[in-house]
Amino acid sequence: MKLQQTIESDLNKLFIFELRDGHRIEAVHYRDDTLCVSTQVGCPVICSFCSSGKRGLIRNLSTEEIFEQYRIVSSLLHVRRIAVAGIGEPLSNWENVKSAFWLFKKDSLKVSFYTSGYPLERLSELIDLPHSGVTVSLHFLLDEKRIRFMPRSGSSRDLLEFLKRKVCFLTRKKRSKISLGYILFKGINDSEEDLRLLTEWALQLGVSVTLLRYNETGGFLPADDERYEHFFRYMRRRGVKVTLSTRFRRDKIGGCGTLVVNREEAEVTI
Ligand code: SF4
Repeated sequence: MKLQQTIESDLNKLFIFELRDGHRIEAVHYRDDTLCVSTQVGCPVICSFCSSGKRGLIRNLSTEEIFEQYRIVSSLLHVRRIAVAGIGEPLSNWENVKSAFWLFKKDSLKVSFYTSGYPLERLSELIDLPHSGVTVSLHFLLDEKRIRFMPRSGSSRDLLEFLKRKVCFLTRKKRSKISLGYILFKGINDSEEDLRLLTEWALQLGVSVTLLRYNETGGFLPADDERYEHFFRYMRRRGVKVTLSTRFRRDKIGGCGTLVVNREEAEVTI
């Protein structure tokens, strides 16, 4: 695996790696100390709002290929944290991701994850690891919407019921590291009913909410600023801990859902 290209904005640095078989994957260095790594070439979950999964799964990355992204970048830049949040669904390449996790820990790194949550047995194992955060990308409260927009994931109801059973066994500290990820899409999941349900679930589970702004990749519109702020204030008032998308995650390069497989070099102009 070799570093093929880097693309820089004011906030982030995108690294494009070429793998031995010619496929390319991406990792992003942001917030001065964090590296977001990929776990697969493509993604089997094929969320309709995400560029990373547009072409489905091409193949899993090996443990070495996951770790190598860190090894190469850390020879150039300071890295203290790993976000397993790049291209791919970590739970669908679980054995390799788990082995890479322990290699990262050996290097004293803090490791956090983003996952769409299935299979649930693996989510359970992931939550039990000594991670620094697991954001479960829920995005839709109603099954019909989740299945429509995240067709290869699974029901929101089953996911939430699973989390309800799981968090009972977690210490308060461990529970505070679990978050429900929610991208606000205009006219799709930003209604008052969505807000009420999301708030109720977060309170019931005792977990935080990560409200994400949609980085436009086509076909959807981000919710208006007022809606985003309304969601934030409503949940805060009711005692839910809410984290917002940072400017790093909304950047043109390296924003959530914008990493792609085999990017054309001309595609990004900063
Ligand atoms: S949002 Fe995550 S799970 Fe969905 S297609 Fe993109 S990389 Fe895969």
